[in-house]
Amino acid sequence: MVMILYIANKINRKDGEFPMANVTENSIFTKEKTISFEVFPPKKDDDFASAFSVLDELGKLSPDYISVTYGAGGSRAGKTVEIADYIENKLGIPSIAHVTCVGGTKESVSAVIDSLKQVGVNHILALRGDRPADMTDEAFNAREFEHASDLISFLKQDPSLHIAGACYPEKHFDAFSFETDLRYLKAKQDLGAEYFISQLFFDNDYFYDFTDRAEKKGIKVPISAGIMPITTPKQIGTIVTLSGSSIPKHFADIIAKYGESPEEMRKAGIDYAIRQINDLLSNGVSHIHIYSMNKPKVTAEIMAGLKA
Ligand code: FAD
Repeated sequence: MVMILYIANKINRKDGEFPMANVTENSIFTKEKTISFEVFPPKKDDDFASAFSVLDELGKLSPDYISVTYGAGGSRAGKTVEIADYIENKLGIPSIAHVTCVGGTKESVSAVIDSLKQVGVNHILALRGDRPADMTDEAFNAREFEHASDLISFLKQDPSLHIAGACYPEKHFDAFSFETDLRYLKAKQDLGAEYFISQLFFDNDYFYDFTDRAEKKGIKVPISAGIMPITTPKQIGTIVTLSGSSIPKHFADIIAKYGESPEEMRKAGIDYAIRQINDLLSNGVSHIHIYSMNKPKVTAEIMAGLKA
């Protein structure tokens, strides 16, 4: 364990090599090791009671933080604030609020940030977001923030905020090349991102290649590996479309083998996520982000299967 931690630190947290301007006091982004979860706010207002009980269950697993997604284009931003408030203040677990900028203005983003700060949430995952389907060309072309890097620069004017950004082991689907994607990732770090959370992936080799290339490019802040448990074959179609992540053959074979049997598929999907995370941990990765999909039982089974 000690050796794993030592290697992990060497790989992900080279002390003294951080761009120090990015490291601010009392930030969860300075932790040497993190296991975190992602949740989404309920789609309907009357689902909040069950959302809170999901959070209570996830909280019992003692993650280092829980991040809360943001509706496309900023719709239902108040719900992100409400869920982040519950995590931070009722559960006493640090919360990261995702904030996207594609459909926002400086004024609207500032209003959301003020609401988050009022409830004590000052860790933000600063994202561009995807163009909402109902956004006109005129509104899109006149948007105040073009990229996540513009949002990061804007948010870094407030020294009380701790900022993370997103990264893509298989490259962002819009990116011209791996090279340009990494260049813009480095810009996010240079503008003040203190930590990156990766898009989900099902083949760890993508993550290892990506972190090697990121390191060569001068990216020194921690990169958390995003893992999503797939427990139904139906999830696959949606996830591949939304994330652009590829399905390696050995995982496709598992889905083909167990896809018709819900119980076996659930177990196989959880086992796959456990094996992925344990492999990452054994290879010195010290930050893991589980896309919990608001499923506390699945998340608990994964946590129980992890190497100490
Ligand atoms: P950017 O960093 O702006 O990158 C987008 C594209 O533009 C990339 O191809 C990049 O190479 C390129 N680029 C970046 N900077 C520049 C530049 N300065 N000049 C030219 N090109 C540039 N979406 C939501 O709506 N809500 C969420 O809560 C949410 N949470 C997410 C959490 C994680 C961990 C991840 C990985 C994604 C999440 N997303 C979420 C999806 C995200 O909004 C989309 O992937 C979006 O398409 C890109 O956002 P970004 O912040 O990575 O954008």
